[in-house]
Amino acid sequence: MDTDNRRSFDLSSGAKPLVDPFGRAITYLRVSVTDRCDFRCVYCMSEQMSFLPKQDLLTLEELDRLCSAFIARGTRKLRLTGGEPLVRRDIMTLFRSLSHHLDTGALDELTLTTNGSQLAKYAKELAGFGVKRINVSLDTLDPVKFKALTRWGDLAKVLEGIDAAQDAGLHVKINAVALKGDNEDEIPTLMEWAHGRGMDLSLIEVMPLGDVGSERVDQYLPLSLVRARLAEKFTLEDIPFRTGGPARYVSVKETGGRLGFITPLTHNFCEGCNRVRITCTGTLYMCLGQEDAADLRTPLRASESDDLLQTAIEHAIARKPKGHDFVIDRRTQQPAVSRHMSMTGG
Ligand code: SAM
Ligand code: SF4
Repeated sequence: MDTDNRRSFDLSSGAKPLVDPFGRAITYLRVSVTDRCDFRCVYCMSEQMSFLPKQDLLTLEELDRLCSAFIARGTRKLRLTGGEPLVRRDIMTLFRSLSHHLDTGALDELTLTTNGSQLAKYAKELAGFGVKRINVSLDTLDPVKFKALTRWGDLAKVLEGIDAAQDAGLHVKINAVALKGDNEDEIPTLMEWAHGRGMDLSLIEVMPLGDVGSERVDQYLPLSLVRARLAEKFTLEDIPFRTGGPARYVSVKETGGRLGFITPLTHNFCEGCNRVRITCTGTLYMCLGQEDAADLRTPLRASESDDLLQTAIEHAIARKPKGHDFVIDRRTQQPAVSRHMSMTGG
């Protein structure tokens, strides 16, 4: 491989950082390393999901090259997601190679979003590769509800994984999708449990991504309502804490913990957007809520040098839209975006 050519795309050699037409620097890349998963969460996938043929996926080496191309142009934070990132075969080799960018200082943070099912196996290795903070998705602590929501998941395994992650020194944040009827009564319990273990909790509104065989309006629970209900029991104070993502945080006086609200529907969070997403086939999405995308697999495979790839990335970033158009209401029953969250990653 032509590493010299790669080096010419390095900020230290005068390459330009990626900045979109609205002046937002692209410093955060989320990469879906697989569309497959060992769960079938009701809001994310239908039970009979069809997955991509394996030959369409980028290899781990290609994913490494793609991520490195973004890091060379100013990406400081990299999140691996999916599908379930930890079910991709040999995924630790990708963490190992990406961790070199932490060693050189080119990257500030390497992290992942996981359902936790494989954490007991991988937590130590992840910590060894410089991963410091992880997001674990967990919507309920009730084993029966957990099974119903994830269809295939086992709560005990996830809790074991969270224990292993904390034992390995990883800082865990819990992400929970707020679901009307399913976990809405349990949110205070989930929060007290997370805060009791020193973990932040972020609540997410259901987004209209992909057809999952049930109507979104039945799942959608506005976080403004959740917050108002929590405020009846707890003292919530707005704080300026940010993790580089769209969550807005409050501190909870009674628990001493932090609670985040990710509200793509009730609150437009696009103005400070610093991120783009890549799928496991090398498709770059400039916005989670829009269909426009750029194929990076073709320029990646067309040449061993990164020239074509970098040009394709620049052209794509020049088209990053100002914001998304998510809508969930009784008149709009089609998903705003036809792809599932497991394609682009959460
Ligand atoms: N499998 C991993 C996990 O569950 O953490 C990573 C991928 S998953 C797609 C990332 C996040 O997206 C999870 O927290 C999940 O709850 C969330 N998610 C999936 N579908 C969603 C939807 N339609 N609306 C809002 N959040 C969703
Ligand atoms: Fe899998 Fe995560 Fe989607 Fe659940 S939310 S089905 S764990 S990808």
